This record gives sequence, C-alpha cells and structure tokens, in this order.
Amino acid sequence: ERVEFVSFYESIIERFEMNKDDKVNFVRSLTKKKMHVWIDKDKITQVLDNVISNAIKYSPEGGRITFEASSTRKQLRVSITDEGIGMPPDTVDKIFDRFYRVDKSRAREMGGTGLGLAIAREIIDAHHGKIWAESREGKGTTVYFTLPLMSQKRRDKS
Ligand code: ATP
Ligand code: MG
Repeated sequence: ERVEFVSFYESIIERFEMNKDDKVNFVRSLTKKKMHVWIDKDKITQVLDNVISNAIKYSPEGGRITFEASSTRKQLRVSITDEGIGMPPDTVDKIFDRFYRVDKSRAREMGGTGLGLAIAREIIDAHHGKIWAESREGKGTTVYFTLPLMSQKRRDKS
C-alpha cells in the first residue's frame, strides 16, 4: 500500500520510545520532505522492529540511538546507529545470513534466533531496496536500508 514513510517511521520510533527503559536515549534526524513509498507495511514494520531491537539489545547503559531518514531523487535511505559493542569488520556482512550470530556465547545470553536480519534482507530485496551495515568493534553499529520512492506518475495514479 501507499505510505508516507517519515510519519510511518516516526510512529514506530514512538512505540519503542514509549516502551523502552532509560538505558538508551533516542535521537531523531529525519528529513522534513514527504517520502511516498509503495510497501507492505507489516513487512517493513518487521524490518524496523528487528533493527531497532538489535540496536537496543546491543547498546550500553546511556547509549544513544540515532534514527536518520533522507532521500535522493529516486530512493529513500534509513539508518539506525547505536553506540553498542559493534562487531569485527569481517562479520558485518555475515549478520544477514540465516542463524549467524557474532559471538555464540554472547548471543546465547542475549536470546533470539539469528534470523531477524536474514528475514529483513529478504523483505528489503522483495521491495527492490538494499540493506547493509557498518560497524566498529567497541564503538557501535549502523544499519542502513534503501527503498525506491514512488514516481510522480505512479503517485498521480494511486
Ligand atoms: P532474532 O533477531 O532472531 O531475535 P538476533 O537478534 O540474534 O536474533 P539478527 O537480528 O539476525 O539475530 O542479528 C544477527 C546477529 O548480528 C546478532 O546475533 C548479533 O550478533 C549481530 N548484531 C545485529 N545487530 C547488532 C548491533 N546493532 N550491534 C551489535 N551486533 C549486532
Ligand atoms: Mg535481531
């Protein structure tokens, strides 16, 4: 369905903000531009839920989580940055594989199945977007994804 992305994104951020403890602080850096996308709302909610839960899960006490949204002519880009434990350079691409978890002992105590980001990649692929991560051990992680914007022509029709 047709969605104005920034307000949709903000409502998800707000849901997490209502339920979170004081462990982390949220910072928003969202474009004021309207960004229209044609998406499966439940599926993209699932992607954001996983990425945001990961950011919270791996954040230290007092960590900041920064939510960004911006756009170029044809696509929007979302990023979620934490100041958490991060991961080694050779693993940032593997986290999108099924059942992959960076540190088995650490992962066990954190719970989860290691499927979240693999599902996220399938969903973003199906939307013709891209998802990737950048990370520095001990410094934090940023997860990015892009989605194609609806063309003016398509917007006029819907
Ligand atoms: P699930 O999402 O199924 O509950 P999970 O969170 O362990 O389990 P993914 O979301 O797929 O699985 O993430 C895979 C692995 O990537 C995690 O186990 C963790 O090791 C690493 N990871 C993901 N996000 C972060 C992050 N923000 N900071 C540090 N490590 C991360
Ligand atoms: Mg997860």
